[in-house]
Amino acid sequence: MPITSIIQEIKTYHTIIIHRHVRPDPDAIGSQAALREVIKASFPEKHVYLTGEDTDSLTFLSEMDNVKDSLYKGALVIVCDTANTARISDDRYESGDKLIKIDHHPNVDEYGDIAWVDPSASSTSEMIYELYLTGEKEGLRFTKEAARLIYAGIVGDTGRFLFPSTTTKTFRYAAELVSWDFDRTGLYDELYRMNEHISRLRGYILQQYQVRPSGMSSIKLTRQTLEKFGVDPVDTGQFVGVLGDIEGIKAWVFFIEEDDLIRVRLRSKGPVVNEIAAKYNGGGHPLAAGASVNTWDETEAVIADLDAACRKFKP
Ligand code: AMP
Repeated sequence: MPITSIIQEIKTYHTIIIHRHVRPDPDAIGSQAALREVIKASFPEKHVYLTGEDTDSLTFLSEMDNVKDSLYKGALVIVCDTANTARISDDRYESGDKLIKIDHHPNVDEYGDIAWVDPSASSTSEMIYELYLTGEKEGLRFTKEAARLIYAGIVGDTGRFLFPSTTTKTFRYAAELVSWDFDRTGLYDELYRMNEHISRLRGYILQQYQVRPSGMSSIKLTRQTLEKFGVDPVDTGQFVGVLGDIEGIKAWVFFIEEDDLIRVRLRSKGPVVNEIAAKYNGGGHPLAAGASVNTWDETEAVIADLDAACRKFKP
């Protein structure tokens, strides 16, 4: 069982460095920081570090450490919530003694000396709670901060328990997590607070969107539009779900122009979108996936693929 081997490795190593994916979301940072919290609560003498780029909008969950290269020597490296090596934030992940992958995306890119991959889990945070439950009898400890972080990751990746990835297990774990005394209202406020720039751009999108007869919709956000609204591309995750409640939309795609590429963010209520993402150097879940293209011409090919998937889709 990878989960028991992972607990064994955590016990063995004195220095543990935890990575996650680039452009993090609450599940990436929640799982990463909750794993540290569980390890530190259980084994206070161990040195546990978090690495990856800082993201201002998520520092209320956890801040990253400044990890020196020398710390990787003889260290255990654990990567949370990251399906493929290209998306691991901080490319020193191979510099440790041993590498572990913990993730809930389909296992397309197999990496790590030990890999625990469970696509049936709603989130990697849910898996970290399971890791704690599995190790509880042999000494793993939990804290209310771990509960806050894991709850944030689950809420983030399930769209507040809305997406079909939410299972009876997710609800059971969530019920246990809220029995810990953390500030749930404060957490929701932080997770869903929207600044004026984002809300105005959200309004613009709702004014502009079109739906094809297939049930497909696409939104192109050029750098010029993002600048006009004063929105940073990394913050577009806050409204990518906005078309999901609109009658007749089966799947949609956002194209977001960044410095050197156009980010593709696919979302769906049924048609499988991670197979489309895979065609464009991406991946993800069946109903939420991402990729990148280099030109606006290429976005038309993505739109055609998504349109075809919507036309073929039978609920
Ligand atoms: P996003 O639109 O960035 O929120 O991503 C939605 C889902 O697709 C997440 O589960 C990501 O992990 C995954 N994803 C996004 N971009 C990529 C990519 N370039 N390669 C593989 N998976 C991706």
